[in-house]
Amino acid sequence: MAKPDIRSLASEIKESFGLTVESVTPLQGYDSRNFRVTAREGEFLLKTFPETQRLCAELSAESRVLEVLIRSGIENIQQPVADGNGAYVFRITIGNEQLLAQLFRFLEGGIVGSDGLRAGHLEPLGELLANIGVALSGVHEPAIEARISPWDLRQWRLSVPSLKFIEDPGDRKYVEFFFRRASELVDPQIPFLRQQIIHGDANEWNVIAGEDEKVSLIDFGDMCFSPLVNEVAIAACYVILQSDDPVAGATPLLRAYSSVNPLEEKEIALLYDLIAIRACISVCRSARARTEMPDNEYAQISDPLAWAFLRRWVSISPRKIENAFREAFGFEPLDPGSLKDDLKVRRANTSSALSLQFDEPIRMESAAFQYMFDAEGNSYLDCYNNIPHVGHCHPRIVEALASASLKINTNTRYLTREFNDYSSRLLGYFPERLNKVFFVNSGSAATDLALRLAHAHTNAEAVIVAEHGYHGNTRAGIAVSHYKYAGRGGTGRDENVIEAPIPNILREGDADRDFFEELRMRIEKKGTNPSAFIAEPIVGCGGQVPLPVGYLPKVYEYVRSRGGVCISDEVQTGFGRLGNWFWGFEMHGVEPDIVILGKPMGNGHPMAAVVTTSGIASSFETGMEFFSSFGGNTVSCAVGSAVLDVIETEGLQENAAEVGGQLLTGLQGLVRKFEECAEARGAGLFLGLELVEPGTPARPATELASRVKNRLKERGILVGTDGPHDNVIKIKPPLCFSLENAEHLVAALEAAISEG
Ligand code: PMP
Repeated sequence: MAKPDIRSLASEIKESFGLTVESVTPLQGYDSRNFRVTAREGEFLLKTFPETQRLCAELSAESRVLEVLIRSGIENIQQPVADGNGAYVFRITIGNEQLLAQLFRFLEGGIVGSDGLRAGHLEPLGELLANIGVALSGVHEPAIEARISPWDLRQWRLSVPSLKFIEDPGDRKYVEFFFRRASELVDPQIPFLRQQIIHGDANEWNVIAGEDEKVSLIDFGDMCFSPLVNEVAIAACYVILQSDDPVAGATPLLRAYSSVNPLEEKEIALLYDLIAIRACISVCRSARARTEMPDNEYAQISDPLAWAFLRRWVSISPRKIENAFREAFGFEPLDPGSLKDDLKVRRANTSSALSLQFDEPIRMESAAFQYMFDAEGNSYLDCYNNIPHVGHCHPRIVEALASASLKINTNTRYLTREFNDYSSRLLGYFPERLNKVFFVNSGSAATDLALRLAHAHTNAEAVIVAEHGYHGNTRAGIAVSHYKYAGRGGTGRDENVIEAPIPNILREGDADRDFFEELRMRIEKKGTNPSAFIAEPIVGCGGQVPLPVGYLPKVYEYVRSRGGVCISDEVQTGFGRLGNWFWGFEMHGVEPDIVILGKPMGNGHPMAAVVTTSGIASSFETGMEFFSSFGGNTVSCAVGSAVLDVIETEGLQENAAEVGGQLLTGLQGLVRKFEECAEARGAGLFLGLELVEPGTPARPATELASRVKNRLKERGILVGTDGPHDNVIKIKPPLCFSLENAEHLVAALEAAISEG
């Protein structure tokens, strides 16, 4: 770009405008080169642009729009100056470049910019934008209407190619999330919205503020034909970016806007997404500019704030935001209906055997990553849901599910690329010996199939099960789930089941027990050879109890020596949750013969699998077909692949190790602080905190655990309780859980336990 010859610039301005120019100083600009012109007649802003036919038409149209605004009495906007020929757009030469130029009167006051908008600016800005909205309704300028601008919220798709410039996939996912919402929830509404010419860029760098809080708007170069609500969304976005309270921050602006130009309910309903889309476009543009224009600091100006905003915005209930905005525009909050009525329907439609969590049940409505939102607009930090493994509503998973469903969804009776790709990929995560996979749709079905495989291979009946283990809701599943058959409503142990004891800190003398030796004696006493040994590496329903170090290698060896096979139930512990290990069996240094997978595998899409050796798989080839209607279908395989992609690209196993490690340290701090906290245990993001009534011998603090769980819920945090006495606080959040989330959880636990 040629360096401007200031002297010749000054003389060109003098010639065209008849001004007595005293100085010309270069200013910063995003996509134009700007100069401040000081003349005896006053201060002016000169904007210059590389000449194109389209731009020439756009700049002329822009000047006509400014004339409309000025004619309708709006003074606090930038005022164009016409040259001697009455033209607002003229040509100027810098070096040997012919440029298009506009001259504006310099407005009094200073650009708000990095000082940030003050509370006092919000009302006048809201009113000004609303007046502009009213004045421009019905104004048509083809050059502006045809404009395709990446800053126009309607054109968010233009930013999709810039996603690749966002380096951290953990950040990129927020943009992908809001872009997907834009595609599914916003775009279909656009034909039904009021559309007109809007300023389109009411950010603090385009606002001039005087001493008396009077504000003026400059830079109409991003005007576009777009839904009117986008004007409000853009202004609100920049206010919220700089606000401590993201929900209430923009209220004065919205109120003032609505007093002049009220928005409709359907427009308000889109503000949550539109505000986010603006921030997303901004971070896409700055990520791209970092690579393509590394010296342009102005292109990065909103970047840190926009990222902080996006991380925060996903943690707030969209309903809460919509209600706050509705209130600002004078509408009643949305009616969530009656909890009582909803409970009545539920009770009428199903059995009370399906329980609800918490003293007062939650009516869940939506979710994002590690956050869940209820019908009242409350947000919850989800510390208890290991099914949405990579995060609730993760855009990559939604994308995989939607696009695969549009193509085909067919079962395993056909050769499909999806099945081959996913099965190869999944098996790649296992030791070489585990090289056959069967897909089903629930952990229970996987347990059932695992027991059938074991039986087919060994022809034996007895199954050794870990104490307090849970493996599924089918008859076979319950029969091997001590947690169920020995728990409330259970009908006792099947005669073919042998129980393997696990540690229990409440049992006296437990620390000195030789668990393997006890099990060996039980098996010998039974006198039969086992078909299988089944256990989780960390017994979840038992209260997050890790099997003792060195126990599984001995058990596996012994079971195999008696002809049995060893099953590892990785429904809860698999897919990187334990941090240092992708599978829980790796933690114990063993290689099972059969592995059961479920919950996290499809991030909520019902997927499960059994992985085994070719020897066991061939014992199952008896002539009887194995078929699962849904297991391994093309859509499930696409979803399963997407889950693995996200685990890898976002480094979620590593995150589980890091955040889980910090969280465990925090929980151990509570153990040191409170007598009621007996033990913190687990690995990665699969942790438990056991609560007891102090004294010797210690007794389980079941009620305290329930109180803590309910108190945390009141504080917007979801945890579960489990263990034989329901006295263990169970923590198993989505793996995108952050260090701040972990700190927040520990602080809330501390407060809830302090309350006794
Ligand atoms: N195994 C374990 C360890 C589980 O935790 C569960 C479910 N809680 C199952 C099996 C059964 O899985 P599903 O609910 O998908 O049938």
